[in-house]
Amino acid sequence: MERVSTPPFTPAVYAARLERASALAADAGLDAVIVGPGPDLQYLVGVEGDTIERLTALVLGPGIASTVVVPRMELAKVRSTAVGSLGLTVTDWVDGENPYDLVATAVGSAARVGVSDALPALHVVPIGERLGVRLELATPVLREGRMIKDEAEVAELRRAGDAIDAVHRRVPEWLRAGRTEREVAADVAAAIVAEGHETVEFVIVGSGPNGADPHHEVSDRMIADGDVVVVDIGGAVPSGYNSDSTRTYVVGEPSPEAAERIAVLVRAQQAAVDAARPGATASEVDAAARQVLADAGLGDAFLHRTGHGIGVSVHEEPYIAPGNDLVLREGMAFSIEPGIYFGGEWGARIEDIVVLTADGCERLNNAPHALRSV
Ligand code: ZN
Ligand code: ZN
Ligand code: ZN
Repeated sequence: MERVSTPPFTPAVYAARLERASALAADAGLDAVIVGPGPDLQYLVGVEGDTIERLTALVLGPGIASTVVVPRMELAKVRSTAVGSLGLTVTDWVDGENPYDLVATAVGSAARVGVSDALPALHVVPIGERLGVRLELATPVLREGRMIKDEAEVAELRRAGDAIDAVHRRVPEWLRAGRTEREVAADVAAAIVAEGHETVEFVIVGSGPNGADPHHEVSDRMIADGDVVVVDIGGAVPSGYNSDSTRTYVVGEPSPEAAERIAVLVRAQQAAVDAARPGATASEVDAAARQVLADAGLGDAFLHRTGHGIGVSVHEEPYIAPGNDLVLREGMAFSIEPGIYFGGEWGARIEDIVVLTADGCERLNNAPHALRSV
């Protein structure tokens, strides 16, 4: 889904991001970076672009005047974004012309050239041939900027968090025995837009045994009395920043075992939130949740990492996972979403987005965490 009508941030914000990306490229020894359509392009100049056969690309780097190469039929649209107000060089091309020549002109004599990880192979191969260099992945350079959210980005994530909280607060209106997961999901999806998102990115309604599959989305299963139901939902607000929050519900009364285990899960989630601060490693935050579950004999029921970064994409760095020694820093935003899954029976997950502050974290989701009876 493209968002190009109004740049969500001031030109100064984008100018700073471009400058930082060039500085990071220089630090990494890259002379030029070619950014294709996708979250990196959206972050840097406010245009998502389509991943299509016609090349749209941003070329930046130390000593390079940032240049956007764009098909002429996309030119007006791109000029209406931050690209227009930043005074970037824009070179357009029409069908029949070779856009790789325009990329080569922008890259100039650069010896080491990086590409964004979303640039299609369709373009990577001819660009490499045209430039006569071995292209490198610019992922480490580009992720560094996106991983640390500035104030304007945190405000957008907060807006998204408030919007999805409002949807969770309304879930009891729709979730009840005798309806299918798909029917409930349709109501939830409508509310995701009604509460302030521009797009629905995903709706998971996992009832009873379906909740035990972390990858389940929706089905025609009829929800029954006593079902534990995982509702994991998210959307993008008009600026393109995403929400992602999970709550676990029960239709009627939970079994004593489910009530007890979900209470442990809520404590595990809180333990990871408490551990999330600058200076901690991603694996330490993951371990904080994992330890609470293990101490209660539920370690084997937790089947995935504790969280993922979020921004203009739903899943991005940093990944809050065992073995990730990345040291967390102020401005990082990520999910904390431990879950417990009992195959063929039921599952539960609790998920909030947090953003790291100077000495801890701010929780961006504040709908009640405890198992909610509907
Ligand atoms: Zn989620
Ligand atoms: Zn998530
Ligand atoms: Zn996910």
